[in-house]
Amino acid sequence: MTGDSTTPGRASIVAVANQKGGVGKTTTAINLAAALAAVRKRVLVIDLDPQGNASTGLGVARADRAAGSYDVLAGRAGIADVARETEIPGLRIVPATEDLSGAEIELAAAHRRAWRLRDALTGTVAADYDYVFIDCPPALGLLTLNALAAAGRVLVPLQCEFLALEGLSQLVRTVERVRANYNRELQIQGIVLTMYDTRNRLSALVADDVRGFFRGKVYDTVIPRNVRVSEAPSHGKPVLLYDHRCSGARAYMHLAGEILRRERGATA
Ligand code: ADP
Ligand code: MG
Repeated sequence: MTGDSTTPGRASIVAVANQKGGVGKTTTAINLAAALAAVRKRVLVIDLDPQGNASTGLGVARADRAAGSYDVLAGRAGIADVARETEIPGLRIVPATEDLSGAEIELAAAHRRAWRLRDALTGTVAADYDYVFIDCPPALGLLTLNALAAAGRVLVPLQCEFLALEGLSQLVRTVERVRANYNRELQIQGIVLTMYDTRNRLSALVADDVRGFFRGKVYDTVIPRNVRVSEAPSHGKPVLLYDHRCSGARAYMHLAGEILRRERGATA
């Protein structure tokens, strides 16, 4: 249905997932999306985390969320009905509303419960966008399953800390299960090392381990720990708009460039 996610003219649907909280999923989803929009890609972010941090970070205040991803999963609205413009031209967001927190339970018995998002993404969305990033909650429940069933690829933000590899192998097993049971096309697109601290020896050791284990899957670009990145969401802006010269903004631009280059390499 989503086909080969690198086929020209079709959206690449990317789930940003890691069952661990606080590893940089939301930060990566919104800032990578903004960086790709800045080079004229048409990008959609779908906020699938009941915490709604991607929505806040892209300037959609909580009080201002009439409808969003929950309505899409419930079959009450199409993506195009609930996608909102952001301050960045070419970047839109489907916000998370409060009722999303009940979705895991409400959808448990629903028809095609794992494919609700995939069904909603089929058709027009593929033609309207170059990239769709799905910001997943920090759990491997039904919401993340919907993201993985809908996506062509998984992008995994990883913080270089103790036991990072153990968490990663759990995610890899989940991806394999989803591939076997829900979505044959699903692949791990790449692993991006986040909040990297050059002064911390553990960061370097873990990074070496992860690169040794996952080889070419780990992006060369590393996202440094940078206070501007953490300040930007409270202004409702991606870091590229908040301070485009800071190291974090430059790193996400760099990551966007690396992803585009790798894709060209893969389709050449
Ligand atoms: P997740 O979505 O995986 O739970 P977040 O993207 O919300 O993680 O990041 C967790 C926290 O770390 C947030 O407060 C965020 O602002 C901060 N953060 C993320 N990336 C960076 C970075 N590169 N430098 C500094 N702080 C960061
Ligand atoms: Mg998050």
